[in-house]
Amino acid sequence: MGATAGHNRHAAGATDAGWNESAREITLGALEDRTDQKEPHMQYVELGSTGLKVSRLGFGAMRLPMLGEGDDRRVDDEQAYRLVHRAFELGVNYFDTAVFYLNGDGQRGLGAAIAALPRDEIVISTKNHYYETDESAWWKNLEDSLRWLGVDYIDMYNNHGMNKTRLAEAYLPRIGKWMAKAKDQGLIRHVGCSFHDDLDGLMQIIEAGHHEAITLQYNILDRTLEPGIVAAAEKGIGVIVMGPVAAGAMDCGSEVLAGALSGVRSVPELALRFVWSNPNVTMALSGMKTLRQIEENCATASDGGALGEADAAGLEEYLARLAAAEDLRCTTCDYCMPCPQGVAIPNIFVRYNRGRVYGLWDTARADYARWMKPESGMKSSLACNECGVCEGKCPQKLPIRQKLKDAHVALADQGDEQ
Ligand code: SF4
Ligand code: SF4
Repeated sequence: MGATAGHNRHAAGATDAGWNESAREITLGALEDRTDQKEPHMQYVELGSTGLKVSRLGFGAMRLPMLGEGDDRRVDDEQAYRLVHRAFELGVNYFDTAVFYLNGDGQRGLGAAIAALPRDEIVISTKNHYYETDESAWWKNLEDSLRWLGVDYIDMYNNHGMNKTRLAEAYLPRIGKWMAKAKDQGLIRHVGCSFHDDLDGLMQIIEAGHHEAITLQYNILDRTLEPGIVAAAEKGIGVIVMGPVAAGAMDCGSEVLAGALSGVRSVPELALRFVWSNPNVTMALSGMKTLRQIEENCATASDGGALGEADAAGLEEYLARLAAAEDLRCTTCDYCMPCPQGVAIPNIFVRYNRGRVYGLWDTARADYARWMKPESGMKSSLACNECGVCEGKCPQKLPIRQKLKDAHVALADQGDEQ
């Protein structure tokens, strides 16, 4: 077994602002001096049947600060070191990366950041995206990962972007055998996957029974995979939730969600507590990029994470009431697409609903403002010429043209034009 629980380290009081003053003094020596200071509250759980004990909060290393521009962008090693070590001090022991993260520099950047951490106290997770037939290409990815991360073995080795097609056409015929060989050789300890597909795909992967942990999307705004999460847990598969704050959509204030529960300090906190309150979820993986986020999320994880039974039931009821009040029932089925004018109909309706139903206007408007810029490649409601083609294809019979106008009024900043 790789990591062990109970290694909460606490360097008191650092915030983004305060940390900068003292950061230059944070040396490896200083860190080691602190490693015996126990922070008693971080929660640890078994990751499925792997035998690994992991913190309830995992570190998704896909948003580490970068230096440089364009193709030259690289992980800012100094900042990455501070963030990763602060998270470790506060008890986080699971660190996840992938080949493509951070302009392809993610594994190197994380490797540099963890180099001084005790290897047997952290769980390293990375991914192999190769699904074709050239076995040497698959092994090269693994060897590169070991080298960039600077480790002899990877604790959780994931098939990146697993779906039912890849399961049937690549994993079961060959990739699974290469995974097993790598495990026999001690290069990887456990086989997992990051999952991007529908509920049926998830069920097929669970049924196949090859993966020890599955990293998947689940949050207040998207509960599609909830039955699969139950099924995975019943089979002893660890469930790691990526996007607990809906890829940043819930990283803003909301008057609507503020009323959901008393005593919850912020929308991101509510989002994390919602995920942890599902007893079938092992861990919430958060792509943290500031010390403030790390400290706030660790504080949330450290005082139990999950909501109490009454609060969880109250939240459930509150969310059901919100959903029932929703009158723009776009299912994001995409049948209306492509629009001849390129209007991003379902994306616009998703943002409109996030604002109207959940009060998440700031992030919804920020997305819409990006789409009104020509370089975004997306088209806002302003591009609609009201041809009506989309309405004939919508199974929900939505008055798309009128709703696009309403959405524009609600989402557009005044004065913006496409
Ligand atoms: S009515 Fe507007 S959104 Fe619908 S297909 Fe025509 S141009 Fe596109
Ligand atoms: S067809 Fe209707 S329900 Fe489906 S994405 Fe388009 S607007 Fe939404």
